[in-house]
Amino acid sequence: MGPWTHRHVLDLAAFSLEDYATVLELAQRFRVMPVAGARKLPALQGRLMTSLFFEPSTRTRSSFELAAKRLSADVQNFAPSSSSLSKGESLLDTARTYVAMGADLLVVRHRCAGVPQSLAEQLDQAGERVAVLNAGDGLHSHPSQGLLDLFTLARHFAPEAPSPEALRGKRIVIVGDILHSRVARSNLWALTACGARVVLCGPPTLLPEAFAVFVAAPPPGQVLDPVPERGRVELVRSLEEALPGADAVMTLRLQQERMHQHLLTGLESYHARYGLSHQRLELCGRPVPVLHPGPVNRGVEMTGELLDDQTVSLVEEQVRNGIPVRMALLYLLAGVTAA
Ligand code: ASP
Repeated sequence: MGPWTHRHVLDLAAFSLEDYATVLELAQRFRVMPVAGARKLPALQGRLMTSLFFEPSTRTRSSFELAAKRLSADVQNFAPSSSSLSKGESLLDTARTYVAMGADLLVVRHRCAGVPQSLAEQLDQAGERVAVLNAGDGLHSHPSQGLLDLFTLARHFAPEAPSPEALRGKRIVIVGDILHSRVARSNLWALTACGARVVLCGPPTLLPEAFAVFVAAPPPGQVLDPVPERGRVELVRSLEEALPGADAVMTLRLQQERMHQHLLTGLESYHARYGLSHQRLELCGRPVPVLHPGPVNRGVEMTGELLDDQTVSLVEEQVRNGIPVRMALLYLLAGVTAA
């Protein structure tokens, strides 16, 4: 495993190939750890993880919580509606209150892009030794989801030794509401870093042309890309063009809460053009797995039959893999903050 240098995990744009390899290797160790008997490792005993979720979450929050508990950390949850935020307390002051109570790891979700980063910067400036993990900020980034998707794909292609290498040259199709998806953005950084060929598919309103060059320039705020050579990104408008030759297909939720204009003519016509079904997947020319970060709109992004078909759908596997991947992140960051 390479040396780990990140104090916070805010955006996968900052990850090198060695960083991905480290997370996957550690996640695999946690994933195959025997679950019978001692389900807990003592690694984070005496450390405190605090979740600050300003946006709803089912999977991410519970998965971080379980990951922390499996490493024997203490866990604290912040509920915005019953907090002093409603009395006008600033977000930074709220965070500092939890740091004063001993938080070592802050897991932050917010509907505005950049909030976890700015919290991390302000806490660093204040000399606090706390690590910030971005659990989803607006449209910007969802690093732990990108990593668990990568881990799920790497385990699919190389079950015994999932590594970035397992993705090299694979054709991964991402279909749907790319514009509003922080998951798609994180996946773009992760998959291209590992040398996958990413095919983005969606209507122009949900997939602007600019995504073709999303990973072409150095990541925002960085002079150099930490990954010297990335896999190609291609944009196509129809599944008929996207699916032939695919090695895996990921579909994304239509993020209607983030759509401020009418970007679709209707859910039925969307499903007719971009919805996945067993029949449609035949276009791939061979059996391929399907991923979705959840929550799924059954019958919109994919049929219920496809979602429930465990021989094709990796959706539950993604949920299972979220725990060891988040254990890996907590473990690595706790190591840095302890140093
Ligand atoms: N759960 C993921 C997220 O928080 C995907 C979604 O909500 O559609 O971004």
